[in-house]
Amino acid sequence: MKEKLQVMKFGGTSVGNAACIQRAAEIIAASVRDSEVVAVVSAMSGVTNRLVETAHQSETGDATAGEELATLLCKQHAEAIETLVRDHSKRADLTSETERIIEEMASLCRGTALLHELTPRALDSIASAGERLSARLLATALVELGVPGVAVEATEVIVTDGSYGQAEPLMDETRERVSQRLLPLLGEGAVPVVTGFTGATPAGKLTTLGRGGSDYSATILGAALNASEVVIWTDVDGVLSADPRLVPEARTLSEISYNEAAELAYFGAKVLHPKTLRPVAEAGIPVWIRNSFAPQQPGTKITATGHPTARGVKAITAISDVSLITVGGRGIVGLPGVAAKTFTAAANAQANVLLISQSSSGNDICFIIDSTDAARTIEKLRQAFAFDLAHQKVEHITVNSNIAIVAVVGDRMRGLPGIAGRTFSALGRRGINIIAIAQGSSEYNVSFVVEAGLMGETVQSLHSEFGLELAASRFESVETDSTLTSV
Ligand code: ASP
Ligand code: MG
Repeated sequence: MKEKLQVMKFGGTSVGNAACIQRAAEIIAASVRDSEVVAVVSAMSGVTNRLVETAHQSETGDATAGEELATLLCKQHAEAIETLVRDHSKRADLTSETERIIEEMASLCRGTALLHELTPRALDSIASAGERLSARLLATALVELGVPGVAVEATEVIVTDGSYGQAEPLMDETRERVSQRLLPLLGEGAVPVVTGFTGATPAGKLTTLGRGGSDYSATILGAALNASEVVIWTDVDGVLSADPRLVPEARTLSEISYNEAAELAYFGAKVLHPKTLRPVAEAGIPVWIRNSFAPQQPGTKITATGHPTARGVKAITAISDVSLITVGGRGIVGLPGVAAKTFTAAANAQANVLLISQSSSGNDICFIIDSTDAARTIEKLRQAFAFDLAHQKVEHITVNSNIAIVAVVGDRMRGLPGIAGRTFSALGRRGINIIAIAQGSSEYNVSFVVEAGLMGETVQSLHSEFGLELAASRFESVETDSTLTSV
């Protein structure tokens, strides 16, 4: 028995072409010396987008869309096969498997075009083709390296509910399937290569876990296998202290907590979808974010404690494609039910509310949503407040899309007074006007709203205010509050 069990997920760019797949296979080959490995793959980058687009085109009755994509995928995957697989009979086997999967996709598109109807279930089946192709490619690339890779369909191991397009795992059933299907393979010394992004209902109907869902596949399997760790191989060095396009001196964080990672994801850092961490956080399984293009880099480790640093703040993050909606006017002072009505309207518009703030006088309620939800939300608000608007109880409902949310994120902030004070003093000195403020009750973040044009400057000044460009080691080894050293 090897002492470790790793679940390794390779994202779309990490399996984007033959050279990348080769690199992924080498990473696995190096790990299997002292660890059992289960691999999870995304589709080659861009493939899922194309599949989804083609499914929708087919729905309009376009009978050629599926055929065109089939030709393209055949060519793309044939090129990869040719580079990766030297053995002739293996090459022929993989080619015919690949063609069979592509033909299945094309025939689903033909059916869709014929019916002018794309059911959520058909969409999931079409969208999942990319992972079915890449899993077989990676498994064969492993075999070429002398590592017994075996492609496994996630429909055999990840059991989900029936919410097509955003299925949720049924963990008990999944655990059972995992022990029936994956443990025997690991016992034989094989490396299962599981298709990411997909699962199946208990009745065996294919589902997908939502776009970008392969990370979730990896953490679901990590939890079901009680793995030692989950490694997400991607195309960045790890989680950074800020977006490097805004702050060139941003640093890779060596360790963050599940909460910090979720907070960062929520506020725009494209790290991991917050729900991705749920299965592993419950089991306390660490997750690594590592760069498959630079495997010598240590990456970022995500754990329960997240190695707190004395400065409290770990990262500054920002999102700008958001809109601030204000419902206000003197007339609403003391008017009961305004907040309830406001957020019911937002919920009816299916808007994702990112931040809420209300002045104590009750003159204004403002909240922030994704800009794509703004028009719908305003319409629902106007309907909900039609009477009050007519009687001037609510004087205005306005939308401002020229804003950004900036968030200061860190677990330790709750133990450290003064972070908010420092944040706002730093911005005050710079003359940066703050439009609204919110602190989550979790105290993992202080977030506030500035004009969109000031987003870069705001993030930069806070990054340097909290010394995030400096090596974390200067601040580290904090175990208890009493050892906190002030900066
Ligand atoms: N291929 C799927 C997507 O692009 C899943 C993933 O890459 O995580 O959404
Ligand atoms: Mg992807």
